[in-house]
Amino acid sequence: MQAMILEAPGQPLRLAEVARPRPGSDQLLLEVRACGVCRTDLHVLDGDLRQARLPLVLGHEIVGLVVAKGSAVQRFALGQRVGVPWLGRTCGHCRHCAGGAENLCDAAEFTGYTLDGGYAEFALADQAYCFALPESYSDVEAAPLLCAGLIGYRSLVAAGNASRLGIYGFGAAAHIIAQVARWQGREIFAFTKPGDIDGQNFARQLGASWAGGADEAPPGEMDAAIIFAPVGELVPQALRHTAKGGSVVCAGIHMSDIPAFPYAILWGERCVRSIANLTRRDGEEFFAVAPRAGVRCEVESFPLRSANEALQRLREGRIRGAAVLVPEPSAPQKL
Ligand SMILES: [Zn+2]
Ligand SMILES: [Zn+2]
Repeated sequence: MQAMILEAPGQPLRLAEVARPRPGSDQLLLEVRACGVCRTDLHVLDGDLRQARLPLVLGHEIVGLVVAKGSAVQRFALGQRVGVPWLGRTCGHCRHCAGGAENLCDAAEFTGYTLDGGYAEFALADQAYCFALPESYSDVEAAPLLCAGLIGYRSLVAAGNASRLGIYGFGAAAHIIAQVARWQGREIFAFTKPGDIDGQNFARQLGASWAGGADEAPPGEMDAAIIFAPVGELVPQALRHTAKGGSVVCAGIHMSDIPAFPYAILWGERCVRSIANLTRRDGEEFFAVAPRAGVRCEVESFPLRSANEALQRLREGRIRGAAVLVPEPSAPQKL
């Protein structure tokens, strides 16, 4: 099968012909129909994260059809469409797993990071961590829901019942979660890179009542803020505009250093917290909410072989909504 392989951090992915994997007893073999491109992929590519595994197939927003399955698989049938998220496997017995916080599992495995992901024609996934997907979404539209949607949703929950919500970085996650937040009746202030007029217009189209540069003051105090951009300077900027008792939620897996800031902007029981990974319950909740909230994804599709171009466009902020890779149909191959 064809796959885009990461061989060393900082180098472009390489299109390679590799052996099609075989499912273990609890695994599905999926024919990849679409795989989202996430900012985390850029962090893995750049070596920002502890490099767990090389060579590696990136990609943790996989929509695929079950074409083979292990002997113990009962949740999904051959031919069924499933989604594979970032959380690839957990131990099930550490104190975090036992306490209902499997997102913090000490021995978790992650799709497209410690496990091969979906920048390929086929991918393996543990059945217990896959999701059935709402039928109202096409393959390419469903892909961004699997991380941008899920992590965005977990971040939104962490923001509490804030009626005025600030969102910093209006990319894939923000464009999905803004729709959920509007459906919940919240008011949204969207912050983009200074001067990103297209991004600000996009945010307004999705229901933001105000959009501006991250260096600007919103028209009123925010009850909470979610930071999707990997920029530490945004933490004190957001705190300055957040009301007493409000949270600033950092949703990314990596962020540049947070500069020192005066205690006065944290005082008043403001809270800065991060969001790490997802639980399967987050996924079940989000996939129930997304169709009810009428969430639609704006997607730019690229052929699998153009993964490097998609990543570069994401890096430069030149993706509107989410980037998704689609494997080209290739000659029939033996399983
Ligand atoms: Zn665990
Ligand atoms: Zn992701």
